[in-house]
Amino acid sequence: MKSIAFFLTSVLVLSACQTISNDAPPPTLWSIAIHGGAGHFGQEDLNLDQQAAYRSSLRKALSWGENELNQGARAVDVVEGVVRLMEDDSLFNAGRGAVFTSEGTHELDASIADGLSRNCGAVTGLQGYRHPISVARAVMDSSEHVFFSGQGAGKFAAHQGAESAPPSWFDTDKAYQRYLRAAKRAGDEPAPIEEKRGTVGCVAMDMQGTLAAATSTGGMTYKRHGRIGDSPIVGAGTWADNRTCAISATGWGEYFIRTGVAQDVHGRMLHGNQSLQEACEAAIFDEMGALGGDGGVVAVNACGDVALVFNSSGMFRAYAKKQGQTVKSEVAMFGPYAR
Ligand code: ASP
Repeated sequence: MKSIAFFLTSVLVLSACQTISNDAPPPTLWSIAIHGGAGHFGQEDLNLDQQAAYRSSLRKALSWGENELNQGARAVDVVEGVVRLMEDDSLFNAGRGAVFTSEGTHELDASIADGLSRNCGAVTGLQGYRHPISVARAVMDSSEHVFFSGQGAGKFAAHQGAESAPPSWFDTDKAYQRYLRAAKRAGDEPAPIEEKRGTVGCVAMDMQGTLAAATSTGGMTYKRHGRIGDSPIVGAGTWADNRTCAISATGWGEYFIRTGVAQDVHGRMLHGNQSLQEACEAAIFDEMGALGGDGGVVAVNACGDVALVFNSSGMFRAYAKKQGQTVKSEVAMFGPYAR
């Protein structure tokens, strides 16, 4: 039954992606896009060494994904694998390098979605596991539920044999200095706004035309114990549906939840016939941004088109796509985004 559904979806998608003109580029065989967080940073905030470090980390994660896709790997495996690499990279706010909560701990959030089965898995407030994205994957694959929180998420992870890690694994001096600055600023105010963030995410279309998305984060520096952002919420920070798109978001989570950014993009495409680019721009600028939020999304559709849309001044991002024998790729950090 599943394979008939897959066949029909593939036929529909192929005809929707077919090129009519002779000079049109050949169809996209696979595509991938990643982000390493969005925020208010420009060229002046990162020295050349820092820029080189971000470029090289983004390039490394992207290349791993490209290679896998080229060998025929499934999108859902690729997005998980890319995010695992980024969770181990202390430059980013996910896994190792995650920000500190106001209590000086790390509460990790992650979600993953598969566009073929339209299944998903998510964890929030996870503590002590090296790869939250793989715990989210296990929730999707090996549980009848889709979302676990706090201690329950930890119990589930342990039961699944997920790799644990001591608190010191996640600690970095950079995140600790931010925590101290935020603590000084905070007083009695609610979670302060971080000037630079580092959530990670990946979306991909594989050679079968299947989409997937994954997002992982430590959340926002000095967040209150128990605060949940958009990253583990499927429909806000993550989404995948072969009929429309795969989305991974980054930015001020409260606003992404309030406007359901990822599902907004999907709905605009499914019901409003908007293109991927139009839908992402409308969700980011006209909805989430209009309320005062900031951040962005990386997105792919089932034709392999890629959109990297943000209203913050910067977003660490990269994409690659294969058309015919040619692979096109790009790594970028700064804005402004020109709508
Ligand atoms: N969206 C994340 C959150 O609100 C943070 C980020 O993407 O920088 O938890």
